[in-house]
Amino acid sequence: MMEKENSIFADRIKNLGTETAFLVAAKAAAHAAAGNTVYPFHLGDLDLKTPENIIEATYRAMLAGKTGYNPNAGIPELRQALADEFNKTRKTSYSLKNVSVQPGGKPVIAKFLRAFMNPGDEVLYPNPGFPIYESLIRFHGGVAVPYGIVPSEGNYTFDIDGLEKSITPRTQLLIVNDLHNPTSAECSKEERGKLAEIAVRHNLMVLLDEAYFDIRYEGRSASLVSESGMAERSVILYTFSKRFAMTGWRIGAALGPERVMDIISTMNVNEESCTNHFIQYGALEALTGDQEQVKENLEILRKRRDLCVEMLNSITGVSCYRPHATFYVYPDVSEAMYNKGFSEYEPFLDAVLKNTGVSMCARTHFGSLLPGETGKNLRLAYSGIDLSRIEEGLNRLKHYLER
Ligand code: PLP
Repeated sequence: MMEKENSIFADRIKNLGTETAFLVAAKAAAHAAAGNTVYPFHLGDLDLKTPENIIEATYRAMLAGKTGYNPNAGIPELRQALADEFNKTRKTSYSLKNVSVQPGGKPVIAKFLRAFMNPGDEVLYPNPGFPIYESLIRFHGGVAVPYGIVPSEGNYTFDIDGLEKSITPRTQLLIVNDLHNPTSAECSKEERGKLAEIAVRHNLMVLLDEAYFDIRYEGRSASLVSESGMAERSVILYTFSKRFAMTGWRIGAALGPERVMDIISTMNVNEESCTNHFIQYGALEALTGDQEQVKENLEILRKRRDLCVEMLNSITGVSCYRPHATFYVYPDVSEAMYNKGFSEYEPFLDAVLKNTGVSMCARTHFGSLLPGETGKNLRLAYSGIDLSRIEEGLNRLKHYLER
């Protein structure tokens, strides 16, 4: 029976992965439905409001009749605003022809792979990392080759030597998520230089996932696309989701060489026709309008980061870097897990949820362990939980882990 059931699907379906953080969310929801308090640290969604000026601009656009099909690459005003934004922040020289508006940042991943990857091609991707990379590489017939994100001075960093050692004649593509989910790792100037040199030398096309570029509390974000030789080989994933608290609006963009954008926009013709019309006017307001509420949201996130880092580091057996960007922390909990008698994540997370109500993700939600990897890490997102609940939840976690 099962065999017959399976046979109705195409072969590639067995390679389709998922975002396992949603499975953690389902467990948390069941725990809450049973009448328990849940402290939601698991999903990278925001409980902060989309700025009002963005909502108003969108509403005005709807009333003005911006409700029809529109150009498959996006409305020219938004494409130009994105090109201007990148030229200002990433030292590119883009015009609107280098921009293809998309219904979210995520759609850029599959479109990039379909544009450049043949079956059997090898694609380097970060592990731990956003699980959709591995899922879509395998789904489209590629070979997913992981590179590590490793502890370093003051923060996690990219294992660039390991990455280079994994390159073979079949390696075609490199995926880089600088300002990284789940670890908050970021490249130094020197590391960006090294990555660019490797990409050029091995003639790799690069997907630069910059979803968290603007979620930054100190310093300034810089992009790999600004390095020599990178503009012609980079496709950038841009999203309004995190920066403007617009995760459910589904609006983002691909940016890169014009001939690549033409292919990507032709995929839009085939798959979506175009991105939602009136929402693009909201996105335009997001980039060009008042930034007061955006700044306020960032300030809220900064306070949450400070509290999370401080409280996590106060727990025996837990150590946590203080990232300058993203809304994730990725503490090492090896000792705390050992002290509680756990060697596997799943029973540990279940016990924590049951005893404290704290719901979070673990290393294994972001890819399978790499050879020789022994440490134990959790990922806590502080984007969807306020300061008082962070304090309450992490106090409970502390009491449980130290009991
Ligand atoms: N890339 C990374 C690393 C992410 O963490 C996310 C969302 O969590 C995305 C891309 C996709 O974001 P969206 O499709 O909402 O733009």
